[in-house]
Amino acid sequence: MESIWAGRLAGRRLLPTPTGRHALWAFLALRRDRLKPGDEVVLAGFNFYVIAAVLRQWGLTPVFADIEPDTLCLDPRRIAQAVTGRTRLVVVTHMFGNPADLPAIRAVCHRLGLLLFEDCAHAVGTTTADGTQVGAESDGALFSFGIQKIVNTFGGGMLAVPEDLAADNTLPGHHPSAVDAFLSVGSRAVASAITQTPVSDWTVQPVLRLSRALARHGHPGLSRTLEPARNDPAYRFDPDSRSPYRNFMRPMLAAQLARLDANIRARRAVRRQIRERLADVPEIRWLAEDRHGHSNAAYFGIRVPDPQELAAFLRGRGVTATTGDFRDCSRLPQFDGLADCPNSRRTETHLLRLPSHPTLGERQIDRISDAVRDFFTHHSPLPAPRLTALHGGSRA
Ligand SMILES: *Cc1c(COP(=O)(O)O)cnc(C)c1O
Repeated sequence: MESIWAGRLAGRRLLPTPTGRHALWAFLALRRDRLKPGDEVVLAGFNFYVIAAVLRQWGLTPVFADIEPDTLCLDPRRIAQAVTGRTRLVVVTHMFGNPADLPAIRAVCHRLGLLLFEDCAHAVGTTTADGTQVGAESDGALFSFGIQKIVNTFGGGMLAVPEDLAADNTLPGHHPSAVDAFLSVGSRAVASAITQTPVSDWTVQPVLRLSRALARHGHPGLSRTLEPARNDPAYRFDPDSRSPYRNFMRPMLAAQLARLDANIRARRAVRRQIRERLADVPEIRWLAEDRHGHSNAAYFGIRVPDPQELAAFLRGRGVTATTGDFRDCSRLPQFDGLADCPNSRRTETHLLRLPSHPTLGERQIDRISDAVRDFFTHHSPLPAPRLTALHGGSRA
């Protein structure tokens, strides 16, 4: 692993794991010395609910703190307010590939004697202000190579830790059955092939509609596989559910890391061009993705008054935009969080993801930008009957 990463995470031990969440699980196991049942962990309200669920399953108590609204990342000024005598760990997510304010967060952790763990699932190629890959300077960091991520090896993940922490290079072993192992890789290869746009308009989108319909009628299985980010209050992490990191993933990872800088340049150019074309649309609030470093443009987020309406309109124009991938976890009933995170709540309500694939050309960039502009000039607000038709009744 260290040679594949070729200096991007210098001085770290890099341990392959079945998924990104396994890397968090492994970190908690390695730091048993500092993390006892009932200890508290501060993390951003706007988050991937699975992270909070894994912490809780380990016996830790997630305590949510608010985010900076324009980077989507944990606000360092909110950490101290969330800390109590039982706090031992801070988990910071570089949400959407935007670097969090690591110097400030590290300073707080240092001052209060807390461990710091980074969720770099979106952030391969994201760097701090001094050009360092995020995840290189804390007590631990997770990476994910799942099918939705910027580096996709049909699953897999990685834990990065200081060299002395995992000196013997071993992590707790997991033993899925042969059938589970086959299904877990095979189904992701298929899902990965069919989720590439434009193929997905003819494959995944209809299946997604079907899976959501099934979920509404009490059959959530398919939608859980296809939309892992959707909140599932009954989720439990099962270490044996996925095959160990496979050897075939290493060359895939190496090849994508070799192209990573070009990939990021192209994504950032797509984002910049769409932003330039829409700069005068007053309803759009732009993020400050690069405030604390250099974002990888893995996801292109904008804030608009009604993202569901816009996403439905864009779908009608052949543009895939998504909403609701991440949630204000401080309001999810399963975490009985008492925190109030207004920025996380507003982000959940107003955030929309636009396409930023590196292969988008001038014509597609025009098409996306024109569609967004048309929505705001001609279709906002939508008359009521039209709105119902666009949603296909799914709001009920
Ligand atoms: C995908 C993701 C993870 C975990 O990755 P898996 O490989 O799916 O376990 C963690 N955090 C965030 C923010 C993610 O999007």
